[in-house]
Amino acid sequence: MRMLKHNLGYPRMGAQRQLKKACEHYWQGRIGRSELFLAAKRLQEEHWQLQQAAGMNLVPCNDFSFYDQVLDMTLLLGAVPDRYAPVVTEVAENAEIDLYFAMARGYQQHGLDITAMEMTKWFDTNYHYIVPEFKKDQQFRLLSNKVFNAFDAARHTLEATPKPVLIGPVSYLLLGKEKESGFHRIELLHNLLPVYISVLQKLQAQGAEWVQLDEPFLAMDISEAEQNAYRYAYAEIRKQCKDLKLMVATYFEGLRGNAELAAGLPVCCLHLDLVRAPQQLDELLPLLPPKTSLSLGLVDGRNIWKNNYDISLPHIRKAVDALGEDRVMIAPSCSLLHTPADLDLETGLDAEMRSWMAFAKQKLEEVTALDAIFHGNNSLLELNRTAIAEKSASARIHKPAVKARTAAITDDDARRQSPFSTRQQLQTARFNLPLFPTTTIGSFPQTDDIRQLRAQWRKGDLPAEQYEAALEQATINAIRLQEELGLDVLVHGEFERNDMVEYFGEMLDGFVFTQNGWVQSYGSRCVKPPVIYGDVSRPADMTLRWTKFAQSCTALPMKAMLTGPVTILQWSFVRNDQPRSVTTNQIALAIRDEAVALEKAGIGIIQVDEPAIREGLPLRKADRDAYLEWAVKAFRVAVCGVRDDTQVHTHMCYSEFNDIIAHIAAMDADVITIETSRSQMELLEAFAGFKYPNEIGPGVYDIHSPRVPGVEEMVQLLQKAAELLPLRNLWVNPDCGLKTRKWPETKAALENMVAAARAARERTSSNVPV
Ligand code: GLN
Ligand code: ZN
Repeated sequence: MRMLKHNLGYPRMGAQRQLKKACEHYWQGRIGRSELFLAAKRLQEEHWQLQQAAGMNLVPCNDFSFYDQVLDMTLLLGAVPDRYAPVVTEVAENAEIDLYFAMARGYQQHGLDITAMEMTKWFDTNYHYIVPEFKKDQQFRLLSNKVFNAFDAARHTLEATPKPVLIGPVSYLLLGKEKESGFHRIELLHNLLPVYISVLQKLQAQGAEWVQLDEPFLAMDISEAEQNAYRYAYAEIRKQCKDLKLMVATYFEGLRGNAELAAGLPVCCLHLDLVRAPQQLDELLPLLPPKTSLSLGLVDGRNIWKNNYDISLPHIRKAVDALGEDRVMIAPSCSLLHTPADLDLETGLDAEMRSWMAFAKQKLEEVTALDAIFHGNNSLLELNRTAIAEKSASARIHKPAVKARTAAITDDDARRQSPFSTRQQLQTARFNLPLFPTTTIGSFPQTDDIRQLRAQWRKGDLPAEQYEAALEQATINAIRLQEELGLDVLVHGEFERNDMVEYFGEMLDGFVFTQNGWVQSYGSRCVKPPVIYGDVSRPADMTLRWTKFAQSCTALPMKAMLTGPVTILQWSFVRNDQPRSVTTNQIALAIRDEAVALEKAGIGIIQVDEPAIREGLPLRKADRDAYLEWAVKAFRVAVCGVRDDTQVHTHMCYSEFNDIIAHIAAMDADVITIETSRSQMELLEAFAGFKYPNEIGPGVYDIHSPRVPGVEEMVQLLQKAAELLPLRNLWVNPDCGLKTRKWPETKAALENMVAAARAARERTSSNVPV
């Protein structure tokens, strides 16, 4: 039998983001339930047909979701937290979908006020899932019919076999969180399995042949208990669903130490991500029992580049030689959820650039092409070879001068001239700041009128002079306000920036922007990551115009704002023809040149934001130190071109730092500002325990809500910080930028923050070291 071609999941938003619009209109009450469902039905049918037309023999269903596929599982398995019961018991008109959205978004209607479930990142993607909440005696029951309805609908639409997709039982538990103490969620497997088994049996009764169970944790570091849970779960499932063909899908990493475990599961097919971990094919082939098939994930589901068939084909050859063609399937590496929908819509990109790329639709065509080439279609292979060769020789991508400079980076480039203690003295003398100096993280409220002006200017409806004049006025207003409030180190407000990565990407060579390259971030939220396609360089100054303007408006120090190299990398689609570290170093050099230019222009304080440094951490622990080493070095390359008396700040937020504190210290920023207020400064204990040597601004208030914190509350936090860290190292600032806030609460909160800093100065004045 010829190998099967299949897909693991398709982007659900729609190429025009139809799902986003339908959901948001439903939430606003502009459309009803039936219209919402109709929009979903159309999208699913369109996507099923498209996948079938692209040549898929097995087409996924139930990969569609109104909000998130993990939340879908929580509803299917009846793991609805108790607090949502009133959404359906007390409001007669509410249906299952309203309960579902309440869990995703919280519920503040009909006199109810119920918080949303927590959201967190899906492995190392920028997709966020809704975290299942478990109690000690957690019960499960079959609650929702969505998967069964999806299977029926797919079967009526398709000639190809619909393959329902579920998150496997072990990964589902591991994705969740214990909400009570005294148990580990993996112990819930006994309660959970019967429900899974009834779901699978029901699908089988409906006529399902294949079911895909996603078990990404098989590719992560898992404990022995978790490994045993896998053995137990799949043995039970096998016993009770004998005739169903189960495919266990792994992705984002290689199986490594779990290879034997995974190969030994009593399932029909195991899917491997051979883009992230090509070497695992050799590891798996000898372990596979005689009847198990292997699904080869060949086409990158995490990036937008055209597949290099000369890399993929040898994997197929090897697997077919070892197993025979009827035990091999081919597919993208993971669900295509993380790629944009359709390259054909990118009419703004030139033909050459387009010839380098493939979005979701094109990736499925690549899977089909690989099958055709494997069976002798040489012209498709030749076309691909030409495209790949042209790309690797393109002068648009390869800039010898950039490569040479990056290769020549030395350890000295990543070192300030003097150690921190010397720099601190010079900086103290230069800026003469009080104890507990106050500052903000960079952005001030981006009001609707600024966004509208930018949109008009981009469309060509507003002359550049008018747009710039409006930005200047906004900047002046922000500076006057900061002066009136009594802040010590000012910022210009970032009014000219739409996004902290896009702004730099648009000014750097080597970046390109798509028109419709949307990827789901969470719920109805999508992002359009920049694409780094070539060697990165900085053809001109990027931020000087605004920073110099801002500094010219005030006698107080103006802190310049740059985005760090790791964050720029992390929030973009990146090159796959060189290591991430090399791309990061190229960006680092561009940021370094900008910092030096700012310094020459008289700017004394420069902040380089790295909020994404933590999220770049590899999924497997064994790879983490190597990553942190190059990431920290790239940051240092970006900031170490400046003089000792130039003060370098960095900012990080919303992540755990405890386990990477040594690397954060190695960044050697003169000042780091971090988010701490929500954890009541718990995070600071990590810094204190480590005896973090440099200056630090622990955020004293949460910027995610309009709530205005009281003075005393912030003084308390400062006192706690003062107990843990040397006084002269402490700064006072909010948790993060204020872009999403409104002006009234921003003014009120900063007024209180300055008052808190003054109170803290007074209360500690008797202890001031001389
Ligand atoms: N300087 C940025 C701002 O204030 C930092 C944003 C961030 O940390 N994500 O908006
Ligand atoms: Zn932040």
